[in-house]
Amino acid sequence: MGRRPVADDPGNVKVVVRCRAFLRREREKGTQCLVHMDPATNTTTLNAPGENTENGMRRALEDKEFVFDKSFWSHDEEDAHYAHQEDVYRSFGEEFLDHNFNGYHTCIFAYGQTGSGKSYTMMGTPENPGLIPRTCEELFDRIEEEPTPNTSYHVQVSYFEVYNEHVRDLLVPRSPLPNYLKIRDSPRDGVYVQGLTEVEVKSYADVARLMKQGDLTRTTASTKMNDTSSRSHAVFTIRLKQITHSLLSDETIERTARMRLVDLAGSERAKSTEASGQRLKEGGQINRSLTTLGRVIAALADPKRHHGKGRRSREVVPFRDSVLTWLLKDSLGGNSKTAMVACIAPSDYDETLSTLRYADQAK
Ligand code: ADP
Repeated sequence: MGRRPVADDPGNVKVVVRCRAFLRREREKGTQCLVHMDPATNTTTLNAPGENTENGMRRALEDKEFVFDKSFWSHDEEDAHYAHQEDVYRSFGEEFLDHNFNGYHTCIFAYGQTGSGKSYTMMGTPENPGLIPRTCEELFDRIEEEPTPNTSYHVQVSYFEVYNEHVRDLLVPRSPLPNYLKIRDSPRDGVYVQGLTEVEVKSYADVARLMKQGDLTRTTASTKMNDTSSRSHAVFTIRLKQITHSLLSDETIERTARMRLVDLAGSERAKSTEASGQRLKEGGQINRSLTTLGRVIAALADPKRHHGKGRRSREVVPFRDSVLTWLLKDSLGGNSKTAMVACIAPSDYDETLSTLRYADQAK
């Protein structure tokens, strides 16, 4: 196993924000755009809505300004600063793949309310593919076109969801009885999901087929807010193993890197006022995962944490406070690179402010 230099790089966490276009129904209603971005300074401004409330008073809301590593303006295609899928990918996708080929783990999260563009950013459409297809295509292109001499490559994928703090395999058909997988922590392999299906893949077409299969299995149930959105966190993992045989000796060097691509549950789920009973429990669990994730990323992004003395300083990162962060521990911290794409809708002041605040504390 190749020895890796252990150097903490404070630039290991990137937080970017992306504002989507109006949906047709928003355009038809003449919805007001409350978000402005200045790509030159990466500033995102959220303006208070200008309408009057029912009793004729303007709500006492304020304009808010945030600065992120990148502000992607995907609102108006006519605008010279419009951020295409390709632009989002180029901003960290390539860099993250380099990191994977060097044997390190990476993790990309899409955070935001339902309908803010998380799936569009991660998966995209056949005409406008998102981060996952672009990453996978380039992964296989690199393996075919620029292989390291005497190296064999093995790519495996798995797909699971975390729902109510339980783990479910998305690559096996859903059975009528709950089929939760156990989480194990071994000194040799770290934290892992016992019995999780891992499938060897040879091309992006294989990956796409498995993602589609998993998406069909993913938990959906209806609530007042949106009938089909998911209340689970979906974690798609690509494992790249490279085995290099030395020509001079019998030595082989094995490097394994994991790419985690995470579509988080809609952030509004964490506090929906319509929820009761089972929905309320879900809301609480979603809140726990999202809050813990925010705290973990904030702790990792804080350079003071990185330059603390030895192991003790890292123990304060609250990985174990939620199943999601515990499972992603090895992909978050150390020499791993993490990116969070905070997706926002252009016209929802309260939810957008909540997303921008979440992203801001994760910087
Ligand atoms: P989420 O996954 O957060 O629930 P979606 O990705 O499904 O949201 O996006 C909601 C809708 O908005 C979809 O119809 C999607 O195609 C569209 N959309 C989202 N982001 C963009 C974008 N940047 N450009 C064009 N359409 C988008």
